Amino acid sequence: MDKQKLRLGVSSCLLGAEVRYDGGHKLDRYLRDVIGIYADFVPVCPEVEVGLPTPRETLRLVKDEQGRTRLVFAKSGEDITERMESWARQRVEQLAGEDLDGYVFTSKSPSSGMERVRVYDRNGVPHKDGVGVFARIFMERFPLLPVEEEGRLNDPRLRENFIASIFTLQRFRRALEEDGGYGSLVDFHTRHKLLLLSHSQQHYREMGSLVARGRELSFADFLERYKNLLMKTLKLKTTLKKQINVLHHVLGYFKKDLSADEKQEVLEVIENYRQELVPLIVPITLLNHYVRKYDQAYLKQQVYLNPHPKELKLLNHV
Ligand code: SF4
Repeated sequence: MDKQKLRLGVSSCLLGAEVRYDGGHKLDRYLRDVIGIYADFVPVCPEVEVGLPTPRETLRLVKDEQGRTRLVFAKSGEDITERMESWARQRVEQLAGEDLDGYVFTSKSPSSGMERVRVYDRNGVPHKDGVGVFARIFMERFPLLPVEEEGRLNDPRLRENFIASIFTLQRFRRALEEDGGYGSLVDFHTRHKLLLLSHSQQHYREMGSLVARGRELSFADFLERYKNLLMKTLKLKTTLKKQINVLHHVLGYFKKDLSADEKQEVLEVIENYRQELVPLIVPITLLNHYVRKYDQAYLKQQVYLNPHPKELKLLNHV
């Protein structure tokens, strides 16, 4: 594994492995060819790894008489819930050792779907309120890890949030690997302040006060609390309103620098963003210009202004 890269768990079929029930795959080119440049993947196919052949009879989720959700073969009705659950519990423990930054599931799958999977009631009527068996056990084991489905990644905001989150966890992991002391965590926190603020003002404050009294705690305790809060914060999605708040916050750092004209221009660009006339990359680019022009040391190191590789163009669509 390359320490510089993201570590991403992913459904094998999304990478093009021919492991689906019909012997096909569900290749997601964005995932494999674009995110893949920055990631080492850890592929998982629950149905194959649990020992089922390919091709195979289709599986589905059904409600049994006690109202429990079961994983059964659609035609034969054979119930493999226990088999899948016991395999999944072992597999997630192995995955705990992989130190993943996130996971991408396959939508609609009774094994790998993370939400809105069809569950058939006793009359054979499907209800889109299920979770794939492996995905459920994975999310119970790693409740704060960023997770998405390939379909949801087509939504620019969900995609940007997910990718910003996994890159943040990667930087956190690297900060711990490279030095791992209190100082490197404080440095990590300082560089991520505005990014954290764009997810949640309340969590941003909580993290700030945790860091301020960090030395009163044992390092292990501090680290655990910090990581927990970090992941909770990243789980809260950014919104237009939160972004505008941060953009104004950034503008505040230039009080003494910007001319009246320059300030007016930034305010107009933020307003255009608020009206969704321009994407986030526009105010961010202008602010980055002033960061360079006025050599704003604090803002220069803020990840918020450069959250992920420019080539991904993620800020061009939110
Ligand atoms: S959705 Fe999950 S179980 Fe189905 S083929 Fe893909 S990885 Fe395997």
